[in-house]
Amino acid sequence: MVQAKVRLSRRHFLQGAAALAGSTVAGSLLAGCGRMAGAERLLTPTALGPQATPSPTPRVRPKEAKYYAQLANGQVRCQIAAGARGFCQTRENQKGRLYSLVYGRLCIARPVPIEKSAIFHMLPGTQSYSVATAGCNLACMYCQNYAVARARPEEVEAWDMLPEEVAAKALQGRCPSITLTYSEPTIAFENLLEVAAAARARGLRILVKTGGYINGEPLKELCGHIDAINVDLKGFSDQFYQQVCQGELRHVLETIKAIKEDGRPWLEVANLVVPGYNDNEPMIRALCAWFKDNLGEEVPLFFSRFEPAYRLKGLPPTPIETLEKAQQIARAAGLRFVYVGNVPGHQGQNTYCPRCGKLLVERVGFEVKQNRVAGGKCPYCGEAIVGRWQG
Ligand code: SF4
Repeated sequence: MVQAKVRLSRRHFLQGAAALAGSTVAGSLLAGCGRMAGAERLLTPTALGPQATPSPTPRVRPKEAKYYAQLANGQVRCQIAAGARGFCQTRENQKGRLYSLVYGRLCIARPVPIEKSAIFHMLPGTQSYSVATAGCNLACMYCQNYAVARARPEEVEAWDMLPEEVAAKALQGRCPSITLTYSEPTIAFENLLEVAAAARARGLRILVKTGGYINGEPLKELCGHIDAINVDLKGFSDQFYQQVCQGELRHVLETIKAIKEDGRPWLEVANLVVPGYNDNEPMIRALCAWFKDNLGEEVPLFFSRFEPAYRLKGLPPTPIETLEKAQQIARAAGLRFVYVGNVPGHQGQNTYCPRCGKLLVERVGFEVKQNRVAGGKCPYCGEAIVGRWQG
């Protein structure tokens, strides 16, 4: 079979102009994206559990995709965010039908602190069984997880692990939640929904860390199946999205607003501050103003530290003063829960009561030292503290 790979431009990607041709193939912690240390990048069988067996020849077959249209001449058009074996590398036209190549094929699966996915107002101090498949529909120059996110499914070590098994492993690991993170969970939409169903059937929460590049209809379905979502708002200009991430800002803003309006999943937002790219004060001010106008005061916002990686290895880490300045700007704009991410031991990682100022949740790195939120309220002044605090 002749395979014609097509790399789609971002514009075509979401304009839906990327119909995938023929019966042959055509075709985001840094708080940014579930950050991993280099040595942890790929999963070992041990991390998956004793039953896991590396399976380069998958027994799990490609899964027919949801949200696609069959066009004339055997073409299909992906409607998750448009595109398929063109940019995300994981959705493929096989004889006029669209298939997900990463259904049940995990390259990362392990318990990690829930805080690692920049979710601070849900079940703090618990472990979340965190899993990833290959592929992403953005291409950030600083991606910490590029070995997985920018790879084709056949280029990474992966293991067969069906949704039911993921939920069983989470229970076995005493994790009250499962997080789909590291790469882009929404491009593995079918896997995501089935993991969510298996999780909920066992009383587990289901969390998603995403770049937010998803169309409205699948997003709406997704919101009905998950408990929390952290969206990376990577910068506040089209120029930044185009140059650094090969994306468009407006689609991410639409996603964040739609999640807030939907109201079902708990929402937090992360902004990775990259020196010289998205760290100027006018951009931070504009981001905060948009945030307040569109999401209100209560949605937690992270300003997270960039560390040199991938194609931006030559940049320095974000100065801590830059993050503190961004935090000040956001607080001055009226946002009540603003965090400094990726700076272990910084007091900007803690949760303070926005009314009386008392320390409520103390964090050092991804560890919760103390949590004084009681019944969703500040124990000192009774102020309601937004979030999902109980298991
Ligand atoms: S390329 Fe994907 S996984 Fe990597 S930082 Fe960007 S959105 Fe996250």
